[in-house]
Amino acid sequence: MYYGFDVGGTKIEFGAFDDNLNRVATERVPTPTDDYQQLLDTLAGLIKKYDQQFQCEGKIGLGLPGMEDAETGAVLTVNVPAAKGKMLRRDLEAIIGRSVKIENDANCFALSEAWDEELRDAPSVMGMILGTGFGGGLVFDGQIFSGYNHVAGEIGHGRLPIDAWFHLGENAPLLQCGCGKKGCMDNYVSGRGFELLYTHYYGEEKKAIDIIQAQAAGEEKAVEHVERFMELLAIILANMFTAHDPHVVVLGGGLSNYELIYEEMPKRVPKYLLSVAKCPPIVKAKHGDSGGVRGAAFLNIKG
Ligand SMILES: [Zn+2]
Repeated sequence: MYYGFDVGGTKIEFGAFDDNLNRVATERVPTPTDDYQQLLDTLAGLIKKYDQQFQCEGKIGLGLPGMEDAETGAVLTVNVPAAKGKMLRRDLEAIIGRSVKIENDANCFALSEAWDEELRDAPSVMGMILGTGFGGGLVFDGQIFSGYNHVAGEIGHGRLPIDAWFHLGENAPLLQCGCGKKGCMDNYVSGRGFELLYTHYYGEEKKAIDIIQAQAAGEEKAVEHVERFMELLAIILANMFTAHDPHVVVLGGGLSNYELIYEEMPKRVPKYLLSVAKCPPIVKAKHGDSGGVRGAAFLNIKG
């Protein structure tokens, strides 16, 4: 049995999956806001409860918005204050007497999709979230590659490629990122970036969904904006593909529901790739909001 926890800022979702990776239990509880011991008790309590229910010791994976410090193991997170700076994995292992894996929630999303029935034979899967931010994860042979510092897949904080800068033209906005730097891709091709760019070029705030509807209706500014955005996204994706050459790319997050992306990218990406390279298949995520808990559970499928 595989247990996954998706620890978010407001709620913890638990899921149990059997050996065929079918979900057999779900539970949601509020995340303790700043009481670390209460957080540990909540997690351990759920583990014990389901161990008893299934008469087994489930393997445990935990996804959260953040990561472990590669040297100390302390949790680096802003959104889960109770876990901030804590040795969560070590402390939970001490309580329940078995190993625990912890991963970034974007990596869990990628892993969840990589273990989808149709994708699990792919040697490599790149998951990308076009949501509030632009992040993702790399899965090789069914396992997360989290890198030297556990920041592999934090693509949003890479800088705009030079082609993107030329494409945006003289009036290109140098947007400030929450990480403290300027020009991070996060602010340009996330769902938020889609709106920020519209505001920059047209001086008015509009929700992504309204821009998309206006584009479909042929409204001039929205059409121009979407044209500019699709090319920008193609440039950025092509740079990722040249670096990692994934066999399949899965898009998640709010903006991934924009069907035009799947029509436009195969047409636009190739001109930014090496001439020997083809654009990999780009598909929409299938597991939506349950990606975090699925991916956390699947951290233990191999090894
Ligand atoms: Zn940044």
